[in-house]
Amino acid sequence: MPRKNFGRNRVLQPSAAYTPTSEQEVLDILDRHQGQSIRAVGRLHSWSEAILGDGVQLDLRRLNDVSLEPDGDDFLATIGAGCQVKRILKELNRGGATLHSLGLIDVQTIAGAISTGTHGSGRHSMSHYVEEVRVARYDESTGKAFIYEINAGDELLAVRCSLGALGIILSVKIRCRAQYNIQEHFTESKTLEGVLNAEESYPLQQFYFVPWRWSYFTQHRCEVTGKRSFLAKLYRLYWWGIMDYAMHLKILFMMRVLRSRRMIRFSFRRIVPLFVIRKWKVTDRSSSMLVMKHEAFRHIEIELFVPREQLPDALQFTKEVIEVAGSKDTSLSEVNQRRIDDLGMQEDLAGLQNQYCQHYPICVRRVLPDDTLISMASGEDQDWYAVSFISYAKPKRRAGFDLFSRFMARSMSQLFQARPHWGKISPLEASELTALYPKFDTFRTVSKTLDPQGVFQNKWTTALLDADD
Ligand SMILES: Cc1cc2nc3c(=O)[nH]c(=O)nc-3n(C[C@H](O)[C@H](O)[C@H](O)COP(=O)(O)OP(=O)(O)OC[C@H]3O[C@@H](n4cnc5c(N)ncnc54)[C@H](O)[C@@H]3O)c2cc1C
Repeated sequence: MPRKNFGRNRVLQPSAAYTPTSEQEVLDILDRHQGQSIRAVGRLHSWSEAILGDGVQLDLRRLNDVSLEPDGDDFLATIGAGCQVKRILKELNRGGATLHSLGLIDVQTIAGAISTGTHGSGRHSMSHYVEEVRVARYDESTGKAFIYEINAGDELLAVRCSLGALGIILSVKIRCRAQYNIQEHFTESKTLEGVLNAEESYPLQQFYFVPWRWSYFTQHRCEVTGKRSFLAKLYRLYWWGIMDYAMHLKILFMMRVLRSRRMIRFSFRRIVPLFVIRKWKVTDRSSSMLVMKHEAFRHIEIELFVPREQLPDALQFTKEVIEVAGSKDTSLSEVNQRRIDDLGMQEDLAGLQNQYCQHYPICVRRVLPDDTLISMASGEDQDWYAVSFISYAKPKRRAGFDLFSRFMARSMSQLFQARPHWGKISPLEASELTALYPKFDTFRTVSKTLDPQGVFQNKWTTALLDADD
């Protein structure tokens, strides 16, 4: 039976599929399928080719134990590979702990989340906190499957974000912290400078660059010692009812039913901002505050990571390209037109004109540099900003988004060193992708050592490992 991913842009047709209940069963399956291509999947919330594979497929959802041990002031949790983040949070909370870093949703598995560098805002990505990974792979001398523990050196840095390319992850040991509360409130700012200046007081904040209104709505967030607010439950209800559902239903209605660009623009200028209650300060438990029901409605996403010093130029460029993509008679500023000319992308820009109307706020999140080889925030000493573009068009009507995402990835990777999220739409060629990671070669060496026959690769990871950068 073919399976589709969340975004309905990938179809998986494995030759055999298993949902093992124990580590021994994983080893038995590997032994039974010696020499064949084998990939694991999590909950298929990636949009990229990372999840593809036409060989044997393993779904480790039944390996989902969570155990917690104190470690100095911190905690270490050992988590079965297929455990979903929501279950992890529940189990950790029982022991007064939580994860350092969380994405916007909590339905991914731990193995899937770390394998693509999943991140939130104001901290490192989840991969950075991984201390040990146990993988099932083949022993070169006997050809038999065995369990290999990775907890140091380049192998650890590689397995922290591995695209499924180092073997089947069985469990992950990850550094956790004591549970804590977060206070948040929204403000609107006309300038990026104003938003970035607020980071000092609100290090966990994220912001939304609102298309067509072109202002910044910032979700200011900071850790506090104060208790949960009296109105925290009401705030959760507001988020669930108004932001997660009402606002998204409105966007879906405009995109899928009305399909009027004029209405979309008007709505972002005048109506969407009305959904946001400003300056309402609420304190709640971190794991409630940091996630939303972003998986409630099907969509597709590309997310580009740019280093901090490039952020102002990258956002100005983004605004101009969105305006060109959304109308017949808009052009880039002189400086950005020159950049496109220098890249030889004039025809790509002409092909994008009037083909795509941005219809979702552009979420921007700060990610601290990761100690990994190839997670998107790896390898620089400055912070990275993940800039995301989302389309709610029906899967059959994504041609405009495809053009837009390809154009943004190709231009921004060359202009601003932008790195596409490994789990999201990633339209670059293998060599263009690997060239963005100074330590990709070390990753390649580790992968070829742990999986010399390439049995854990798919076409995409094979191309990445073989790319000339
Ligand atoms: C609605 C939505 C919101 C999202 N929000 C965020 C966000 O806020 N921040 C962010 O960074 N990302 C976000 N993502 C992306 C998501 O976190 C990643 O794509 C993540 O990898 C999905 O996890 P998964 O369990 O579904 O894994 P899958 O998508 O199934 O797999 C991802 C990769 O992990 C590998 N893998 C899975 N299990 C194993 C295993 N046991 N052994 C070896 N390899 C394995 C797979 O082979 C594949 O390469 C979001 C995605 C969606 C759909």
